Amino acid sequence: MSKKIVAGNWKMHKTAPQTAKFLEELIEKLPANQAEVIVAPTFVNLAEATALTKNSKILVAAQNMHQAEAGAYTGEISAPMLTAIGVNTVILGHSERRQYFGETDGNLVAKVDTALRHDMKVIFCIGEQLADRNKNNHFNVVEYQLRDGLFHLDKKFWNNIVIAYEPVWAIGTGETASPEQAQEMHAHIREVIAKSYGKDLAINVSILYGGSVKPSNAAEIFSKPDVNGGLIGGAALEVNDFIAIINAI
Ligand code: PEP
Repeated sequence: MSKKIVAGNWKMHKTAPQTAKFLEELIEKLPANQAEVIVAPTFVNLAEATALTKNSKILVAAQNMHQAEAGAYTGEISAPMLTAIGVNTVILGHSERRQYFGETDGNLVAKVDTALRHDMKVIFCIGEQLADRNKNNHFNVVEYQLRDGLFHLDKKFWNNIVIAYEPVWAIGTGETASPEQAQEMHAHIREVIAKSYGKDLAINVSILYGGSVKPSNAAEIFSKPDVNGGLIGGAALEVNDFIAIINAI
């Protein structure tokens, strides 16, 4: 069975003191349910975040990484740098990385391979633009993002893959996909995976929904059978909202 996961993507928010304050409060109030809880602070706060969460069930993720092991790539961060400070999860292919930083399917494949070579868990983001949905092309777009980014992988690597379906039109806009829209896309994603890798593997892949999830809509979205949790942006910045979302699972 797929694992339930709630992951918070903090993007370019929170200084070191704010990170520490949030995590101390989260550790204190964390509900004792079965969901895996992940937070993704900015790079400079990762080491402190892993130290603070060491004895808790909270995992710390990076929001991105470079595909090379090391080298002349000014401003970049490698997988060995992350794992050396206890960061074993990475978000790859977030739509903001694709849209503003020129992330392409080609370098995403290289990043996925590097992360898996270092035994990291990958939260791989896919999702259509509003124009794709208006043209009724959203199922195709998402299927090709999935195939291009992940279908070169051998079956054994899928243990470390989590999919985040994030319709771009719902990210940070306050507009959420309806629970039915989320469910039909998640079911499609699982079916596409099943066709190439078999049903047994597909039912074990966690598929998270992301896009304006908040305490008021989380329970309904998470109640859908193919939605295994959420990747949360804005609502993950306030500890009580994040906890309410964890509780909703
Ligand atoms: C995100 O950036 O991954 C996200 C889902 O953001 P928000 O929850 O703010 O829409």
